[in-house]
Amino acid sequence: MSNLFVELKTPITGSFQQPTGLFINNEFVEGIDKQTFEVINPTTEEVICSVHEATEKDVDIAVAAARKAFEGSWRQVTPQQRSIYLIKLAELCEKNIDLLAAVESLDNGKSISLARGDVNSVIGCIRYYGGWADKVEGKTIDIAPDMFHYTRSEPLGVCGQIIPWNFPLLMLAWKIGPALATGNTIVLKTAEQTPLSGLIFATLVKEAGFPPGVLNIISGLGRVAGAAISSHMGVDKVAFTGSTPVGRTIMKAAAASNLKKVTLELGGKSPNIVFNDADIEQAISWVNFGIYYNHGQTCCAGSRIYVQDGIYDKFLEAFKKRAAENKVGDPFHHETFQGPQVSKIQYDRIMDYIKIGKEEGATCEIGGERHGDKGYFIQPTIFSNVTNDMKIMQEEIFGPVAAIAKFTHEEEVIALGNDTNYGLAAAVHTKDLNTAIRVSNALRAGTVWVNCYNLLHHSLPFGGYSESGMGRELGEAALANYTQNKSVAIRLSGPLF
Ligand code: NAD
Repeated sequence: MSNLFVELKTPITGSFQQPTGLFINNEFVEGIDKQTFEVINPTTEEVICSVHEATEKDVDIAVAAARKAFEGSWRQVTPQQRSIYLIKLAELCEKNIDLLAAVESLDNGKSISLARGDVNSVIGCIRYYGGWADKVEGKTIDIAPDMFHYTRSEPLGVCGQIIPWNFPLLMLAWKIGPALATGNTIVLKTAEQTPLSGLIFATLVKEAGFPPGVLNIISGLGRVAGAAISSHMGVDKVAFTGSTPVGRTIMKAAAASNLKKVTLELGGKSPNIVFNDADIEQAISWVNFGIYYNHGQTCCAGSRIYVQDGIYDKFLEAFKKRAAENKVGDPFHHETFQGPQVSKIQYDRIMDYIKIGKEEGATCEIGGERHGDKGYFIQPTIFSNVTNDMKIMQEEIFGPVAAIAKFTHEEEVIALGNDTNYGLAAAVHTKDLNTAIRVSNALRAGTVWVNCYNLLHHSLPFGGYSESGMGRELGEAALANYTQNKSVAIRLSGPLF
C-alpha cells in the first residue's frame, strides 16, 4: 500500500485499511505541499496515524474539481439518479456500520454504542434526502392571460462545508444530504481532531457511483483549509457547524469575498426546566442524558438546569446519584456511556471552566476532577448555587459539566431560560399540557423538547435563534439552504402592447 493508506486496528473490526489522503475527484491524493498532521487517540493520548493536510492550493484543486462536476457530469444526472446514488450510499453505510462506528470511537472517543447510534442516524439522514432528490419542485404562478410564469428551484453550485469533531459522521451526513439531493457539488473539510471516519466514508461515495468531483472530502486545519474555503471566490455557499467565534469569522470571510451564502449552526447554553409536577424519575433520566450525552460535547446540551423549589432538594440528590452512575471509561467497552473528551485542548478548556465555577462561588456537588490517569477523561460534574451571571451559566463549556439552579415561578424561569446570547434548544418537564405549551412558546430556542431531551430526527428542522446560528438543517427546511429560486416569465403570442 502507498502512504495514502495505513493499517489500523480496533477491537470491533480487527485490522483495516485507513485512507489518509485527500479525497478529490474520487481518488485519494497527497496534498501539493505534502504536509501531514497527526491524529491522536483521546483514550490513550497516543498517535493513531498521520493524515494528509490540505492547504490553500489543495482547496483550489478541490474547488476546481467540484466546479467541473457541477458544470459537467453532475448537471446531466437526473434527480431520480441523484436519489438512487444517495440511497445506495445509505445502504453502503449500513453494510459498513461496524467499521464506521469503530473508527468514530477510535478517533473521537465516543462510546461504541453512541457511535453506532450516530451511524444509524447517518443512514436515516442520507436515505431521507435520497427520498427528497426527485421531489424538489417549482411552481406555476398565474399572473396574466398572455403570460406564463413559473419558478425553478436550482442548486447553488459549489458548496463548502466545514464540520466539527463532536459528531464527525453525523454532521457530514446533515451537510451532504440536502446539498447532493438538490444537485450541488461539495468540498467538505472535516475537523482536524477527527478526520478518519470521513475518509472511510469517502470510499463509500466512490462505491455508490457518484461521478468524480461531486463530493470531495479533505482533512485540514481550520485556519488554513477552513479559511481558504470560506474566502474562496469559486465557492457559492459555505455551511458551518462549530463555535460562534469561528462562525463570525466565516461570515466575515464570505462577505469580504464573493458574498457566498452562509448557514451557521453554532453553540448553545440550553435551559432544561423541571417543574414541580414533573415525573421526577423520568426528568432525572432526561436531564442526565441532556447534559452528559456525547460527554457534554453537544451543541444543544442541556447545560443549565432549572428545577422548581418544591422538588429541588429531592431532585438534586437523585440527580447526583444518577450522574455518578454514568459509566466512564474505554469507549470500546459495551457498558461505557462516557468516553474521553476529544482532545487535550478541550480537556483543558473544560477543567478551566470547572476551576472558574469554583472561584465564582458555585458548589461542586460531584465530580470536578480528571477520571483516571490516562486519556482526556473528566468526571461527570454538577455545580449548584449558581446564578445566571456566572460564566459557567453563560458560556458554552462543551463538557460533562451541569449547572443547577432553583426557581419559584413560571415567569421567572422563562426569563432565566431566555437570559442568554444563544438560542439553540430548551426543554420543559411537566405533566401539565398547558404549562408545556405556554413555556415552550415563550422560550427563544430553535428546538424545545417536552419531557425528553436530545431527541433529533432527520425529518425535523434543527437550528438556532440569536447567536446559535442561521438557517436550518434537516427536514424539508434544509433544502432551501441549498437552492435558489429562479422566476421565468414567458410572454405568450398575442398583440404587442
Ligand atoms: P471550531 O469552531 O474552531 O472548529 C469547528 C470547525 O471549524 C473545524 O472543522 C475547524 O477546522 C474549523 N475552523 C476553525 N477555525 C476556522 C476558520 N478560521 N475558518 C474556517 N474554519 C475554521 O471549534 P473548536 O475549536 O474545535 O471547539 C471550540 C469550541 O467550539 C467548543 O468548546 C465548543 O464550545 C464549540 N463547538 C461547537 C460545536 C457545535 O456543534 N456547535 C462543535 C464543535 C465545537
